[in-house]
Amino acid sequence: MTTILDGKTCADKILDNIKEQVSKLDTTPGLAVILVGNNPASSIYVKNKEKKAQYAGFNSIIHKLPKNTTKESLLNLIEKLNKDCNIDGILLQLPLPKHLNTYDFLDKIDPKKDVDGFHPINAGKLLLNEKPYAIPCTPKGIIRLLKTHNIQIEGKNAVIIGRSNIVGKPLSMLLLNENATVTIAHSKTKNLPEITKKADILISATGTENMVTAEMVKKNATIIDVGIIRKDDGKLRGDVDFDAIKDVASNITPVPGGIGPMTIAMLMENTLELHLLKTRTKE
Ligand code: NAD
Repeated sequence: MTTILDGKTCADKILDNIKEQVSKLDTTPGLAVILVGNNPASSIYVKNKEKKAQYAGFNSIIHKLPKNTTKESLLNLIEKLNKDCNIDGILLQLPLPKHLNTYDFLDKIDPKKDVDGFHPINAGKLLLNEKPYAIPCTPKGIIRLLKTHNIQIEGKNAVIIGRSNIVGKPLSMLLLNENATVTIAHSKTKNLPEITKKADILISATGTENMVTAEMVKKNATIIDVGIIRKDDGKLRGDVDFDAIKDVASNITPVPGGIGPMTIAMLMENTLELHLLKTRTKE
C-alpha cells in the first residue's frame, strides 16, 4: 500500500512545537523578509511565511521594496538588518528583479542570520559536513519528512532531478551526509528514465509538470515532489504524475501539502535556532 507523505500534518506538529518553545522564552525571535518587486508567487509565499511566523510567536517584519530598487538601497537594508539585534533571521525572497544579481546580496547577509542557509559560509559548511548556522529549508524539510516516516536513507540510491543552488545541490550534500548514494540529474542528462529507475528515493525539483511518469519509477520507490506549478485556475501541481505513480511507489508526497509546508516549517525552525544561538552566545 502506498503511503502519502503528509507534509502538512508533519509541518503543523513542528510549528506547534516551535510555538510552545517560543512561549517559554523571555525573548522573541525576529524574522525579517525582504520582498523586492511584485512577483505574484513570491507575494503569496511571503504572506504564508508571515502567517506562520506570527503563529509561532515570532516578531515578523516584511520589507516590501519597489521593483526598481537599486543595488545600493538593498545592500543598505541588509546592512541595517545585520546590525538590528531584534532580528535573528534575514530572508531575501528570490527571484530578484532582473537588474539585481542574487549573488551580490546573499553573501552580504550575516551568516549567523542567514536563515535560508544560502551564504557561501553556510553552503561551505554543508559541503564539509560541519554544522552550518542554517541548512536550506526545502532540502532540510525533505530529510525531516523522510526521517519522520522512518524511511531509510543510508545505503539507498537517491536520484535528484534538478541541480539548483536552492534545492538540488544542498539536498545532494544532505543525502550524502546521511550515507545515501547520490545521483544528480539535470536538463542535459541523457537517458533520464534509465537513471531514475534505479532510485530507491527519487526527488524531482524542476518545475515541469509530469516530469516524472510511472515508467520512470522503480517499484516501491519513495517519490518526493518539490515542483510547484501554478495553473491558470490557481491550483497547484507538482513535477510528478501523482495519480499514475501512487500505485507504483511505496511513499509519495502530494502537491500541495507535501514539501511546501515542510519548507516553511524549516524556515521557522531555522529562525528559532539562530535566535537560540544568539541568546546562548550572549550568556
Ligand atoms: P531552477 O529553475 O533553479 O532549477 C530547475 C532544475 O531542473 C535545473 O537544475 C534544471 O537543469 C532541471 N531541469 C529542468 N528541466 C529538466 C528536464 N527536462 N530534465 C531534467 N532536469 C531538468 O528551480 P528551483 O528553484 O530548484 O525549483 C524547482 C521547482 O521546485 C520549481 O517548481 C519551484 O517552484 C519548486 N520549489 C518548491 C519549493 C517548495 O517549498 N516546495 C521550494 C523551492 C523550489
